[in-house]
Amino acid sequence: MERARRRAAHAMLFPFPCSGHINPTLKLGELLHARGVHVTFVNTEHNHERLLRTAGGLRGRAGFRFETVPDGLSEEDRRAPDRTVRLYLSLRRSCGPPLVALARGLGDRDGVPPVTCVVLSGLVSFALDAAKEIGVPAFVLWGTSACGFVGTLRLRELRQRGYTPLKDESYLTNGYLDTPIDWIPGMPPVRLGDISSFVRTLDPQCFALRVEEEEANSCARAQGLILNTFEDLEPDVLAALRHEFPRVYTIGPLAAAIASSSSSSSQQGTHSSHGNGAGGLSLWEEDAACVAWLDAQPPGSVLYVSFGSLAVLSLDQLSELAWGLAASRVRFLWAVRPGLVAGDRGAEALPADFLAEVEGRCFVAEWCAQEAVLRHPAVGGFLTHSGWNSTTESIWAGVPMACWPGFADQYINCRYACEEWGVALRLDERLSREQVAAHVGTLMGDGDKARDMRRCAAKWKKAAEAATAPGGSSYESLLQLVDELRLAEP
Ligand code: UDP
Repeated sequence: MERARRRAAHAMLFPFPCSGHINPTLKLGELLHARGVHVTFVNTEHNHERLLRTAGGLRGRAGFRFETVPDGLSEEDRRAPDRTVRLYLSLRRSCGPPLVALARGLGDRDGVPPVTCVVLSGLVSFALDAAKEIGVPAFVLWGTSACGFVGTLRLRELRQRGYTPLKDESYLTNGYLDTPIDWIPGMPPVRLGDISSFVRTLDPQCFALRVEEEEANSCARAQGLILNTFEDLEPDVLAALRHEFPRVYTIGPLAAAIASSSSSSSQQGTHSSHGNGAGGLSLWEEDAACVAWLDAQPPGSVLYVSFGSLAVLSLDQLSELAWGLAASRVRFLWAVRPGLVAGDRGAEALPADFLAEVEGRCFVAEWCAQEAVLRHPAVGGFLTHSGWNSTTESIWAGVPMACWPGFADQYINCRYACEEWGVALRLDERLSREQVAAHVGTLMGDGDKARDMRRCAAKWKKAAEAATAPGGSSYESLLQLVDELRLAEP
């Protein structure tokens, strides 16, 4: 009976327009497309232009239809320090009607069926209303860990119980953030400060806090919640989450799922039209020379340093990091994207005497093919901001981490990576060159701690591969999701 109701599915994917959302959504699109779902990927006009300019941008995505909607930002908005907030508000204000119009115009063209579902990422919950208007169900790919999602869901309760916003600045440093929180179902006891950066707000209106909690809670209006994690990694928190969200699809690590999908289609002799699967979509030009540099380094000897696509370091933090890395004596590859340093600066902000000091054992790139870098045999450790994509990519590569979280769910990812999964150690919030050097030394060295982390990293790498291989939990969950998309009735 059920099978008779199945029909061609056409998913319109719309991520919040930043790398951390675009990349996992794109990977989900690749996985759906490989299983026969028609995919239309919607970028903002601004990002689409950028992607067309970078070699890695739209490479090999021939099987997709790409469409665009305006983001409504002025050039002044794009340069403003609060550009992400402006982008969020602008999309929410003006992007619904263009999305609806776009979906309606996509129907029954060139043998492609009309849009049958909308898949959005976090932070664009207004698209749930757009989906309703179009008359199709919506699914949310929330790009964090399950523990990150649950922590975000509980922000409302933390606010109502008076834990946050903080009374004044002294609460940031007086130990208050160490307050134990042991009442979140599915979570081990954690520190208040581990739950999310948003508990650190001093803003009585707590704009960011409210946006996060509202966005997370609005997922309850979607037909299903898709997470880039796997069952064995976060079993307790997933079990607790399913009491609130009955339809949770755990299909990660996405990068591993793509690799598994490409290798099984090539083994079966089937052809996947959408490229190599490896790598994400690049808003910055990838520096191919860094991989050539890695090729010349001994196995396991290189620390990869990257803080993702959004983090901004003060000059002081940059200097402590740089001199800590110099003092550690290890080889390192550092991705310093334009805008990583306050004042819209990049690698040009690195001190010249530092570059002279580390010459021969350091490579500075603007942007790397991170998945390939992490999986390169020369890479033995990752100094990361604990963004969830980076964390899952590192887990899949079996590379232990030194974590320096600073925003949103990065704190809880770091907490789990250090204490639940045993694959990481944590740097103090206030960076010092001495601590950077000491922790990097521990991570890249040969002591008991490093050996333990490597053992755990190898274990989780295997678990990630097993989850995404045919018959694994993520593989099966993806099949269920595809079935659900096909069955979904407007
Ligand atoms: N990334 C990359 N090259 C770089 C730095 C980062 O490809 O030089 C990618 C990385 O592989 C990951 C994404 O950018 O997929 C960053 O996402 P994450 O969730 O870790 O952090 P965010 O950017 O959201 O803070």
